Amino acid sequence: MKLWTAKDSAELYNISGWSNGYFTTNEEGHVEVTPFGENGGRIDMKRVVDDLVRRGLSMPLLLRFSDILEQRMHELCSAFHKAIEQFEYKGKYVPAMPIKVNQHRPVVEELVEFGKRHGLGLEVGSKPELLIAVSMMHRKHGLIICNGYKDRAYIETALLAQRLGITTLIIVDRFQELETIIAASRSLGVKPCIGVRAKLSARGSGRWAESGGDSSKFGLTAAEMVGVVERLRTEGMLDSLVCLHFHIGSQITAIRAVKEALDEAARIFADLYRMGAPLAYLDCGGGLAVDYDGSKTNFHASKNYTLEEYAADIIGEISSTLDGGDIPHPTIITESGRAMVAHHSVLVFNVLGHNAASFRDPEKEVQRPKEEEPQILHDMWEVYAGITKKNYQEAYHDGLKLKEDALSLFRHGIINLVMRARIEELFWASATKIWKICKELSYVPDDLEGLEKTLADIYFCNFSVFQSMPDSWAVDALFPVMPIHRLREKPTQLGILADLTCDSDGKVDQFIDLHDVKNALELHTHRVGEPYFLGVFLVGAYQEVLGDLHNLFGDVNAVHIAFDKERGYTVRHVINGDKVKDVLSYVLYDSGALMQRLRASIEDALQEGHMTFEESANLVKHFEAGMAGYTYLEQPELAESLLNSVLPKENRSVRPAPEERPDEIQKTA
Ligand SMILES: *Cc1c(COP(=O)(O)O)cnc(C)c1O
Repeated sequence: MKLWTAKDSAELYNISGWSNGYFTTNEEGHVEVTPFGENGGRIDMKRVVDDLVRRGLSMPLLLRFSDILEQRMHELCSAFHKAIEQFEYKGKYVPAMPIKVNQHRPVVEELVEFGKRHGLGLEVGSKPELLIAVSMMHRKHGLIICNGYKDRAYIETALLAQRLGITTLIIVDRFQELETIIAASRSLGVKPCIGVRAKLSARGSGRWAESGGDSSKFGLTAAEMVGVVERLRTEGMLDSLVCLHFHIGSQITAIRAVKEALDEAARIFADLYRMGAPLAYLDCGGGLAVDYDGSKTNFHASKNYTLEEYAADIIGEISSTLDGGDIPHPTIITESGRAMVAHHSVLVFNVLGHNAASFRDPEKEVQRPKEEEPQILHDMWEVYAGITKKNYQEAYHDGLKLKEDALSLFRHGIINLVMRARIEELFWASATKIWKICKELSYVPDDLEGLEKTLADIYFCNFSVFQSMPDSWAVDALFPVMPIHRLREKPTQLGILADLTCDSDGKVDQFIDLHDVKNALELHTHRVGEPYFLGVFLVGAYQEVLGDLHNLFGDVNAVHIAFDKERGYTVRHVINGDKVKDVLSYVLYDSGALMQRLRASIEDALQEGHMTFEESANLVKHFEAGMAGYTYLEQPELAESLLNSVLPKENRSVRPAPEERPDEIQKTA
C-alpha cells in the first residue's frame, strides 16, 4: 500500500483551496504558516503551539499571524494598483478597515501600523468605534469613514476630529441626519466632509443580500439623494458633499452582484457630480468574500471571483462610466473587512477524548460467524461480505433491515445482548465499507447521505463554539478545520466536534467540501496521554467580537506571532483570556461576596460536623484557584506530556531573554 504523506493530508483537507497560500504542510506532518508564499519564511504551527503550552498558556489558543495581516493588506492594494495601471485610472485607491470586523486593540494597532504606507482609513459604525478610530488613527492625513446611526455628539466628535488633520467622511445613512450635520457644523465652525449612502436596487448575493436593495436598513433613495443636494445648495454647503458610498452586503459570493451595483453607483456618481457636488471619493463598501471552502463557486462559503477580478471590475466599470461624461476620477475606497482579517487568525484547541459511534476498532477484521450461530448473524455476514460497487445501496438497505430485525428478536428474548452486539458490529463494519465506496463516487444517493453522520465519532474538544466560532452556530458558516499535526498519518476516523458547553448546539458537524458539505471530518484516533490539536482556520473576521459567554466560557488566550529570520518566530503580544472571576463579574457576581457566602455555609457545615477542617480548607483552595483560573479546561498534564514526548532534552529550558519577552496584556488591567 502507498505510504500516506503530508501531501495526501493537504489534499484531503484542501489546504491549497482555502489557504490563499498562507498555510501548507511540512515534512514533519505539521501545518506550516507561509505568509510570504512558497519561498518566504515558514512558521511551524505545531512548534509554536508546543512552545506556548510549555510557557504555561492554556488551550484554547487564538493565534494571530501578523505577517498574514500585513500581506493581505498588501495584496488588496496591489490588486487595485494593477487595475489602476491597466485602465489608466487617474484617481487613487485607499483601503478602509471596518472596525466592527475585529475591534481588538492589538489587531487595530497592527492594521494602522501596516496601513500607514497604504493610507489605510478606518470605518466606524457607532460612537464607541468612532472614539477608537479617532485616537488610533495617526494624526495627519488620516481617514475615518463614519457610518451607522448618528446623534449630535457622534457628529460633533467627527467634526472636531478634522481639526487633528484627519479627514472624517460623515456618511448620511438616513435623510434626517443631514439637518444635524448642518446644525453641528454651523455651531462648531467646522466645514464637514459629507457623503451619501445610496440605497441601490442592486443587491448583494448570498446570506447578507438584504444589506442592499430597496428594503435595506440604511441608505438614501434617489429622491432623498436629490433632496440632499438641494438642501445643501440652499445652505450654500454643496461643496461639502464629497463622497458617494454604497454597501451591498457581506460575503458577496457572485461577481455579477458587484458589477450590477457598480453600474448603478457610477451612474449616481456622475449625476450627483453634474448637479454640482464636487465628489472626490467613491466608497464601494465591504463585501469582498473569503473562499472558506476553497471551491471557487458562488456557494455561501465561497466566491466565484479573484481579488484581481474584483479590483479590475470596480476600476474598469467606474472609469468607463465616468469617462463617457468627462467626470474626474475619484479616489476609490473599499471597506473590505472580512477579506482583510479573516486569514490571519487560527483557533487551536486540544481534543479531550472521543466517543466511538460504534464500539469497534476500525483496524480489526470482523470474523465470519460459526455454523451453529443464529441465522440472522449469518445473513448480516452475507451482506457485509457481499458489498460491491454495484450493490452497495441495496446492501445498505438490507443491513438496516437486519439490524431492525435483530432488535425485535432481542426484545422478544430470542437473541441475547451479546448476539445483538455482534450483529450491530457487523452492521457498522458494513456501513463503513459502503461509506468508503460512496466517497469514491461523484454522486451519492439521497438515502445514503446521512451515513457519514451515523458513522462519525464524537470528538470532545476544549473550546466553545459560541465564544470562538459563533457564525458556525448562528448562520451555519463553514470554516476549514483540520489537525495541525500527525499529517503523515492517514486519518482513520470520521468525527464531529462537540464543545464544552452543555448546549446540544455546541458542536461542529458541517465541514467544508469541494462538492457540497461534509457531515463528518476525517480525523485520527485520539491516543490517551498524547495531545491532539485541531485548528479552525480563517476565523479573524467577526468571530472574536460576536462571541458570547454561553455557559460562561470567556475570551480565549490570544497570541500575536511574527516570522523571525533567526529564531523562526517571535511572540509579539500575549493577551490573556478571561479568568473565571472576570466572566462572573460580567453577570454581576462579585468573587469576594461569593467567597463570603461560601465561608458562611462552611461554618454551618463545620458546626454540624458534616465537614472536617481539612475538607473546608480544600474546598476554599479549589474555590480560590477556580476564580483565578481560565474558564476552559486547564490541563497541566498537557505541558507535561509535551515535555516528555516531543522535545529533545536540550530544548527544554529555552526562554527568551528578558528584553525579548513580549508584552503581556491583562484584559482586566
Ligand atoms: C460590515 C460592513 C463592512 C464590512 O463588510 P465585509 O463583508 O466584512 O467586507 C463594510 N462597510 C459597511 C458599511 C459595513 O456595515
